[in-house]
Amino acid sequence: MRKKIVAGNWKMNKTLQEGVALATELKNILAAEKPNCEVIIGTPFIHLATVSELLKDSVIAVSAENCANKESGAYTGEVSAAMVKSTGAEYVILGHSERREYYNETPEILKEKVNLALANGLKVIFCIGESLEQREANQQEAVCKAELAGSVFHLTPEQWKNIVIAYEPIWAIGTGKTATADQAEEIHAFIRKCVADVYGAQAADDTTILYGGSCKASNAPELFGKPDIDGGLIGGASLKAPDFKGIIDAWK
Ligand code: PEP
Repeated sequence: MRKKIVAGNWKMNKTLQEGVALATELKNILAAEKPNCEVIIGTPFIHLATVSELLKDSVIAVSAENCANKESGAYTGEVSAAMVKSTGAEYVILGHSERREYYNETPEILKEKVNLALANGLKVIFCIGESLEQREANQQEAVCKAELAGSVFHLTPEQWKNIVIAYEPIWAIGTGKTATADQAEEIHAFIRKCVADVYGAQAADDTTILYGGSCKASNAPELFGKPDIDGGLIGGASLKAPDFKGIIDAWK
């Protein structure tokens, strides 16, 4: 049975003190009422060690939002996968469209990051998704398939077990526009088929595929109700504990 996950992506928000306050609030809420899914929070690098320690005995796992494509050495300002792992974080988000667009992360660079993350014992939430122009040209399937082929389909079946896919149509991220549940289901089913073509039907069935893009408490139940949508990667609505909890509750 594949995992159901609700994962937050704080992006470049929250000072350390604000992040600790949010993680504490969430920890207390979920201690009082156990979630029916795995819960992950993706935080900026500077929060990772403190928040991982804080959440050590909780149901919440911690993720980085990025890691370097180099192992170690003279790369000023970079943070390696080994460093992320040493904080206690379990996951790293890679391939987010903001990193692809603003920091020129190519499929080759992402492949290096994925390899290093897995080699260092991290699980990867790998993001894919098309732009508005690509959707209007009906290229969403080709784009998603190429992004998978370019950065993760070289992995062994054993490595694949540590990959979570997040389908995030770029036109829906932070825009308030959500893919309809049917639109999202259609492409999630396609992504699962692509995984089956490479790793087989059982591995595809075991792969968690998250939806991301203006997901909130009001639309999460319909999205998560679809057979190939296994949860969400949540940006804006992960920044306030009650909003995030509202999405987690979609699994109830
Ligand atoms: C994201 O950036 O991963 C995301 C899904 O953002 P939002 O929920 O704010 O659209």
